[in-house]
Amino acid sequence: MDETPTRLLIHGASGRMGQALLRLAAEDPSLQVVAAVVRRPPAQRVIDGVPHFAASELSGVPPFDVAIDFSLPEGFDPVLALCVARGAGFVSGTTGIDASRQAALDAAAAGIPLVWATNFSLGVAVLAELVERAAASLPGWDCDIVESHHVHKKDAPSGTALTLGESAVQGGAEPRYASLRAGDIIGEHFVQFSGLGERVELVHRASNRDIFARGALHVARQLSGRAPGRYRVRDLVGA
Ligand code: NAD
Repeated sequence: MDETPTRLLIHGASGRMGQALLRLAAEDPSLQVVAAVVRRPPAQRVIDGVPHFAASELSGVPPFDVAIDFSLPEGFDPVLALCVARGAGFVSGTTGIDASRQAALDAAAAGIPLVWATNFSLGVAVLAELVERAAASLPGWDCDIVESHHVHKKDAPSGTALTLGESAVQGGAEPRYASLRAGDIIGEHFVQFSGLGERVELVHRASNRDIFARGALHVARQLSGRAPGRYRVRDLVGA
């Protein structure tokens, strides 16, 4: 068994997801965080043994195998470009990624292995399958996707809601979206199919954001050393 740890760069390290990634990676001997990148110059250069860098210092980070990015769309471009330049893997959960950035991901996948996903939880992967099946089995029913998140979340509908909507479209439904921003809700996705006199309701509730961080760390470990290409979370789960 290869015991060399996968060297990680964590981008967006001071955010809610970044902090969860740093905490969980520190508990895993198969992972070594060699750089944590934060937006502004850090007050402390080394925290818990992890070197910290400002986003403006990205080109000077040490060698790494995979970058994990949970930031904002404007932070996404430079870290993807760095991975392409260094031939490193790229894992991103940043949502609000538009069509031009999707095209940049497709182009980058010619040279590096990468995963961009709106949700790294296993439960949501299963929910997406159930939504597609329900949509295919209930032609003509109304399909509504209601997502709830904490008040700090900037994009709406959530990336996960849009991914679930794509599954509904695959099954033949025409989904509508509603978004709630309230309190400290980590993430809830409710998909309702309404017919005449009956409804089917499917729901996923995240009660801890560690599920996303664990999934992203697993994917990063699996991505290291793979052939270039654009992978899905489900390609690497159980690997
Ligand atoms: P957050 O606001 O707590 O953290 C974002 C971090 O990104 C901040 O520390 C900020 O300083 C940093 N940042 C912003 N611009 C930057 C730049 N230009 N360069 C470097 N760093 C920059 O947000 P969060 O809750 O941690 O979520 C981060 C992203 O991840 C959001 O897009 C969110 O929707 C997404 N998210 C995805 C999943 C998933 O499973 N895919 C799960 C949770 C959150």
